[in-house]
Amino acid sequence: MLKKLLILAAFAAVVAAYFGLGLGQYLTFDGMKAAVAGWNAFYAENPALVLAAFFAAYVAVTAASLPGAAIMTLAAGALFGLVTGTILVSFASTIGAGLAFLSARYVLRDGLEARFGERLRAINAGLERDGAFYLFTLRMLPVFPFFVVNLVMGLTRLPLVTFLWVSQLGMLLGTAVYVNAGTQLARIDGLSGIVSPALLGSFALLGIAPWFAKLLIGWARRRKAYAGFTRPKRFDRNLVVIGAGSAGLVSAYIAATVKAKVTLVEAHAMGGDCLNTGCVPSKALIKSARVAEQMRRADRYGITPTEPQVPFRETIARVRHVIRAIEPHDSVERFEGLGVDVVQGYARMVDPWTVAITRSDGTEQRLTTRSIILATGAEPIVPPIPGIEGSGYLTSETMWDAFAAMDEVPARMAILGGGPIGCELAQAFARLGAQVTLVEAAEKVLGREDDEVSDLAAAVLTEAGVAVLTGHRATQFEGGVLVAERAGEQVRVPYDALIVAVGRRPRLTGFGLEELGVDVDGNLATDGFLATRFPNILAAGDVAGPYQLTHAASHQAWYAAVNALFGHLKKFTADYRVIPQVTFLEPEFARVGLNERDAAAQGIAFEVTRYGIDDLDRAIAESETAGFVKVLTAPGKDRILGVTIVAAHAGDLLAEYVLAMKHGLGLNKILGTIHSYPTFAEANKFAAGQWKLARKPEKLLTWIEKYHDWRRG
Ligand SMILES: Cc1cc2nc3c(=O)[nH]c(=O)nc-3n(C[C@H](O)[C@H](O)[C@H](O)COP(=O)(O)OP(=O)(O)OC[C@H]3O[C@@H](n4cnc5c(N)ncnc54)[C@H](O)[C@@H]3O)c2cc1C
Repeated sequence: MLKKLLILAAFAAVVAAYFGLGLGQYLTFDGMKAAVAGWNAFYAENPALVLAAFFAAYVAVTAASLPGAAIMTLAAGALFGLVTGTILVSFASTIGAGLAFLSARYVLRDGLEARFGERLRAINAGLERDGAFYLFTLRMLPVFPFFVVNLVMGLTRLPLVTFLWVSQLGMLLGTAVYVNAGTQLARIDGLSGIVSPALLGSFALLGIAPWFAKLLIGWARRRKAYAGFTRPKRFDRNLVVIGAGSAGLVSAYIAATVKAKVTLVEAHAMGGDCLNTGCVPSKALIKSARVAEQMRRADRYGITPTEPQVPFRETIARVRHVIRAIEPHDSVERFEGLGVDVVQGYARMVDPWTVAITRSDGTEQRLTTRSIILATGAEPIVPPIPGIEGSGYLTSETMWDAFAAMDEVPARMAILGGGPIGCELAQAFARLGAQVTLVEAAEKVLGREDDEVSDLAAAVLTEAGVAVLTGHRATQFEGGVLVAERAGEQVRVPYDALIVAVGRRPRLTGFGLEELGVDVDGNLATDGFLATRFPNILAAGDVAGPYQLTHAASHQAWYAAVNALFGHLKKFTADYRVIPQVTFLEPEFARVGLNERDAAAQGIAFEVTRYGIDDLDRAIAESETAGFVKVLTAPGKDRILGVTIVAAHAGDLLAEYVLAMKHGLGLNKILGTIHSYPTFAEANKFAAGQWKLARKPEKLLTWIEKYHDWRRG
């Protein structure tokens, strides 16, 4: 605040001096021309003083965005000559511009971001990528006034240093032209004659030159990426998709639908992680665990409770049965029926257009293809903790086979990692009868959520009997014991089964990326169109990130497939604005868009509306009253910025908000929609009702009350 006041005071002082001392008269063409002769004499006697005073005045005028910079530039030529004048003005104008830029930033930017933060995000993202190019073009195109560019850029997140060097460079030619005109002051009679249309045109061309340069660099980069490879003259396929998980299946499906010749290669099981080791088995297990819990707590429903027996082989057999029941959706037969050529085997890129497939029967097939989509998924991260190799750890990839071989639920289970997967498994196994300890290094489980949400998740786990050790770092595994540390204190967690669920990393190695020179350390670099550094090799799903979710994978698959097949005509930027995510605890934890933490971190202003599920008739009838609907809206508007729902069926409830956000429907529209009674979905309408209630027009209602009084006589 003090900074803002100081800036405003300095601005006021400069403006007061400008008008109070009548400086404006010198900053007209005629005023300056008349004064220059006198100044010349004074400059001859006191060169340092005049240079310093001129410099300071130039900085002050430009910093305060006062009119007169062009006149002063001419004066610099008249007084100091071309070289000195150009150097002086070049630095003074850059410093003045920098001060104006900072003033706008300190005084106005926060307020602007608080109001329009969400919309500004796209602009800032563009500036982060191409800020220097934009600014250079703006500086070269005279239609954009100098002071407007300074102020507008100050409102963005463009770094000051970039602003300064690009401004200095971008303004140099224009400055030199004006200073040069100033050296000929006697021969010109106004500002208008200084720059001819031809000169303006040249400046404009120079301004857009960097964009051509950028295109050229992109073209050269692509040529460099493809250098050394010979592009086939003809292609066997339009598209080869590597990996038949959610991303690969959808990519191949779309390609076949638009009649492209597409081959889908899968090394293991069709359906990938989601069907075989991820979403499907985990949700099947969670259902068994819920049933066990309902039996145990049947007294809530007036039924005699009973401690469930869990014949674990049968429980896992059911999980397998569920997978088998869903398998046909992702099967070879189905996809071949859709027109996809499905090959069971391991794919490896030989060059950017050739895929070698080692088929499951040992034979090899080579296919040339115009485009390739990498949909190879992700694999569990195993942290390098001493003793982990001999710890007998399981991951999402190995645990289902291990469980299938067990007669009983492991008595003591340690789960490393308090993200969605770790939390879901912890609650499920605790309900199935295991004594579960969840070890998480961060201070909260579900650490990306708001604190109240994370705390509720921890409480739900604790209620299920899970020992939640947050803020505990696993330091060692020794003889069936996980050793964790918190603030120097050691905790020993003995286990019969250990699950490592600390995250998943993109599967990037072993299928040719290294040989093609793509960086395989960490994440795969893709552009907004999901293309790698080879424009014809795209990626979708967990391998591309950033969301490791099945529906995000299918969503990306559309972009990857369309860009791969039609990108030469029109490319689409992957849109991640409305991606829902659900953690399948009981109650479920679901979110779309911003939560309070993200909004605050991004400087986006918001209002919060809450509706407690304990108020909902259906929830009361079902004794499922835990949770809330929390909606973040733009201040003063019903525009939804984000929604977090903790409730039974929260994942399903969220769909209405996902639709609303995707299509720009506000809370008023949800409030005006009929929801069946009694349903959990009514919670969405009631949350919208809470929002409306908090904004009822009190003054108008007072008048309406008076009207009713009058009507009664
Ligand atoms: C326990 C668990 C629970 C989950 N629960 C949910 C949930 O409830 N909701 C949700 O949205 N997400 C969930 N996920 C995440 C979800 O499973 C993934 O986001 C999704 O499977 C990603 O799909 P994908 O197509 O990118 O990769 P994947 O499904 O991993 O498919 C990649 C495929 O590529 C194949 N492949 C790799 N390399 C080659 C090669 N060189 N040649 C041929 N084939 C190859 C692999 O064999 C694999 O089948 C869960 C994950 C786990 C582990």
